[in-house]
Amino acid sequence: MGLVSFRGKILKIIDETPTVKTFRFERPEDFHFKAGQSCSLAFPDRIVPGRRMYSFSNSMADSDFFEVTIKKHGSFSSMMFSIKEGAEIDVKGPFGNTFVFDESHHEGIVLLAGGVGVAPFMSMLQYASSRGMKNELVLMFSSKEEREIIARKRLDSYMENGKKISVVYALTQEQPSGWKGEKGRINSKMIKKYIKGMPDKYKYFICGPDAFISSMKIEIKGMSVDERNIVIEEWGI
Ligand SMILES: Cc1cc2nc3c(=O)[nH]c(=O)nc-3n(C[C@H](O)[C@H](O)[C@H](O)COP(=O)(O)OP(=O)(O)OC[C@H]3O[C@@H](n4cnc5c(N)ncnc54)[C@H](O)[C@@H]3O)c2cc1C
Repeated sequence: MGLVSFRGKILKIIDETPTVKTFRFERPEDFHFKAGQSCSLAFPDRIVPGRRMYSFSNSMADSDFFEVTIKKHGSFSSMMFSIKEGAEIDVKGPFGNTFVFDESHHEGIVLLAGGVGVAPFMSMLQYASSRGMKNELVLMFSSKEEREIIARKRLDSYMENGKKISVVYALTQEQPSGWKGEKGRINSKMIKKYIKGMPDKYKYFICGPDAFISSMKIEIKGMSVDERNIVIEEWGI
């Protein structure tokens, strides 16, 4: 799959949370990507200089479009928040070959997401669900509070129809009354509660802020998981 550059039209902008939006782009026929890969975006007039990387948050199961899910933070992402549907953005990709899973090799997979780090996992779960993958897949998704949970309905829908996918939400700061998910930061005890087999038999994917990645690495290593079974996507945020 070679790199492709094109000017992509934004078809739809979806509000996910007060600070996160999903941008749906028209997909050129020759633009293909794997779940877990990313693309770089740039403004055609370079109103904000440079390019930024964004993970695909949907999969090729959506044939006509691709999506990226962006958290408002600094110069580039804030400018993305001010653009409207119909706008055009320079796109290049796909990038990355290590943060993609291979269903033929990994029996059980644990996906650990902190905040907008869930974006590549939205893609992976859609891929797994659309292909009817037999692997046990557990997404553990950490957010500060309930209103910050990204794409909850969509993620929940992947658990339906007896598929081997489960999604666990953990709220670190504020839990509403009657909250049925996990409370506090994700830790090894929590992970063990949701996986069916021994922790060292699983492949672990981690994506989120640097502090989240560091803490997940400690938790996973504490369960005697081989380094080779830990795949990390570092965004430098
Ligand atoms: C492979 C890859 C995939 C990525 N995928 C995504 C994605 O799917 N969605 C997404 O939102 N971002 C993603 N990022 C991060 C993205 O590329 C930008 O770095 C991010 O949008 C910030 O750019 P900015 O211009 O808005 O902020 P800048 O002006 O470049 O950054 C300002 C400062 O804020 C810090 N910062 C930026 N974002 C955050 C944050 N969310 N939390 C805390 N500190 C932050 C930066 O480290 C920097 O010091 C990805 C990065 C990489 C390398």
